Amino acid sequence: MKNITVIGAGTMGNGIAHVFAQNGFRVSLVDISENALQKALSSIERNLERLLAKEKIRPETMKSTLQNISTFTEIAKGVAEADLVVEAASENLDLKKKIFSQIDELAPANAILATNTSSISITEIASVTHRPDMVIGMHFMNPVPIMKLIEVIRGYSTSDEVTNKIMTLSKTLGKVPVEVNDYPGFVANRILMPMINEAIYSLYEGVAGVYEIDTVMKLGMAHPMGPLQLADFIGLDICLSILKVLFDGFGNPKYAPCPLLVNMVAAGKLGIKSGEGFYDYAESKKAEKISSQFV
Ligand code: NAD
Repeated sequence: MKNITVIGAGTMGNGIAHVFAQNGFRVSLVDISENALQKALSSIERNLERLLAKEKIRPETMKSTLQNISTFTEIAKGVAEADLVVEAASENLDLKKKIFSQIDELAPANAILATNTSSISITEIASVTHRPDMVIGMHFMNPVPIMKLIEVIRGYSTSDEVTNKIMTLSKTLGKVPVEVNDYPGFVANRILMPMINEAIYSLYEGVAGVYEIDTVMKLGMAHPMGPLQLADFIGLDICLSILKVLFDGFGNPKYAPCPLLVNMVAAGKLGIKSGEGFYDYAESKKAEKISSQFV
């Protein structure tokens, strides 16, 4: 595989493009928004500068990484030569189905189609294509350049050959792939989201404040960040949509999203990306400080 297309240039898309490009792949980064593409390029450049300052990469790697990335607002042009497409657009089933039926038509017949979805069924996404055996989940973790794990999710029809190719490719990116099956939330979010939801319930019910809840989990459980800070980092809208997938998928009330989370999303308080969540990121420097803990 040489040519990778990443669809969606948001939080995850820019990280995925960065990692492939840094490892010598040619990356076509596609987004409907030119502004998102420009923001993604600046964010990749900033993250590369940090890695350079910490002597984790050489100056020539920074240059080649940036040179390996081309941007497109037209999906047809972006996927025309793809060996692998990694979709990282917003977490919405209808949107993902629309994108997959488009890329199934537009990408070469031998291209593997992967999705970075946090929780949506791979099998359902694959059902809109004519190549369900070549559709797979490639769930990168945030921040992509730093986090080692890739949860590789086999849909109902995903072939062994495609799974093996993606496991091997993930290793060439310096990541540790783990193979899991396609059930709501897979493994990562089936375990993580109930913990975040419980932390929000603890706040909602007045058990403790934001600082106290996060400090208990950081210092008491040796988590690198508290669950509320992590929710801000992931995006509260993403957390809510994953909890809805778990709730609908299992039909179990234990996954019901906390009303405080529902209200915060309705009010547009989405965490770092909107400038406010459980913490205030109004001064851009504060948000920057939180993100840079990882790089
Ligand atoms: P985001 O909102 O930051 O970015 C989504 C991007 O998709 C936006 O730039 C938007 O313009 C673009 N987009 C929307 N429709 C499009 C289309 N038709 N064609 C091309 N681009 C389109 O979202 P994100 O946090 O990067 O999440 C992306 C995916 O990754 C979701 O499926 C999410 O569940 C998953 N994910 C997120 C995290 C996280 O921590 N944020 C972690 C793992 C996986």
